[in-house]
Amino acid sequence: MAEVLVYVDHVDGAVRKPTLELLTLACRLGEPVAVALGAGAESTASVLAEHGATRVLTHEASEYADYLVVPKVDALQAAYQAVSPAAVLIPSSAEGKEIAARLALRITSGILTDAVDLEAGDEGPVATQSVFAASFTTKSRIAKGTPVITVKPNSAAVEAAPAAGAVEALTVSFSEQASGTKVTGRTPRESTGRPELTEAAIVVSGGRGVNGAENFPLIEALADSLGAAVGASRAAVDAGWYPHTNQVGQTGKSVSPQLYIANGISGAIQHRAGMQTSKTIVAVNKDPEAPIFDLVDYGVVGDLFDVVPQLTEEINTRRG
Ligand SMILES: Cc1cc2nc3c(=O)[nH]c(=O)nc-3n(C[C@H](O)[C@H](O)[C@H](O)COP(=O)(O)OP(=O)(O)OC[C@H]3O[C@@H](n4cnc5c(N)ncnc54)[C@H](O)[C@@H]3O)c2cc1C
Repeated sequence: MAEVLVYVDHVDGAVRKPTLELLTLACRLGEPVAVALGAGAESTASVLAEHGATRVLTHEASEYADYLVVPKVDALQAAYQAVSPAAVLIPSSAEGKEIAARLALRITSGILTDAVDLEAGDEGPVATQSVFAASFTTKSRIAKGTPVITVKPNSAAVEAAPAAGAVEALTVSFSEQASGTKVTGRTPRESTGRPELTEAAIVVSGGRGVNGAENFPLIEALADSLGAAVGASRAAVDAGWYPHTNQVGQTGKSVSPQLYIANGISGAIQHRAGMQTSKTIVAVNKDPEAPIFDLVDYGVVGDLFDVVPQLTEEINTRRG
């Protein structure tokens, strides 16, 4: 059976959920071979094996933390040459997409980014993408070289698929460009205790209708009742009500959760571009004509200052 390379996103050995989703998708295409780099790479093996990795290629070196992106591309290229895979799957983060683009260029292959589903096809994997601000769903296949595909978080339900997960040391020699961009400092983000926006299964967002930074705790309380991440429209972040890192949309983050709840957000095309692939969309808006209602699964026409606290209370009561 053909092997499929899966690039592992992990923090000191703790594998992030989008990688497990990639393994589930890779199992549809062939035998997943995981590539784990940097500190803690070997300790990723057991969880990768539980989710279908037949082999786990590891390489630990300080270069992965000390320099941006290129050392990882060098390593993934080494893995590509060692395995000759049928496809290479990478999580669709900003870093993942840069790694994918550089790898595709080096191996003269086509690339597809931001896939939301993958299936096996007679002539290679077929990727589903949501394009033009999610106005169209397309299916595409790479016609040249080994398909390099990045997949958005929350594109597949993680499935257990026990496999051997044999750890093998990958031999990597870094290119001259690997040390081109040095990391000169790191400041850990202050943890909110909430999930990462792009990976969260539920996102609760607030827009201009929230009417001030002092009211965002309402949105946070609803998010916390659901274990969700908090998002915001550009109008809300430009007004300084919420950090720019939480902006959802064309010039913000792209999210694709199981559930997206938009509060006081009109549904401008640039906002939709970042959330329209969410599985279930709920909106609370006092204007029945708001464009967001064109794309929702459930809509509440009402004042968010009435609706959101009641919703939060009801969820908290039901969750006990
Ligand atoms: C190049 C470009 C890129 C952009 N990128 C982004 C992006 O990444 N993300 C993004 O979000 N926008 C982006 N925008 C901006 C976008 O066009 C909209 O201006 C923005 O999304 C509007 O935010 P909003 O829905 O919060 O505000 P508004 O459009 O002002 O809508 C506020 C909504 O709140 C409702 N409301 C008001 N009070 C209440 C209440 N008490 N209860 C319930 N509902 C209430 C109103 O009925 C209204 O529908 C971009 C624009 C451009 C030109």
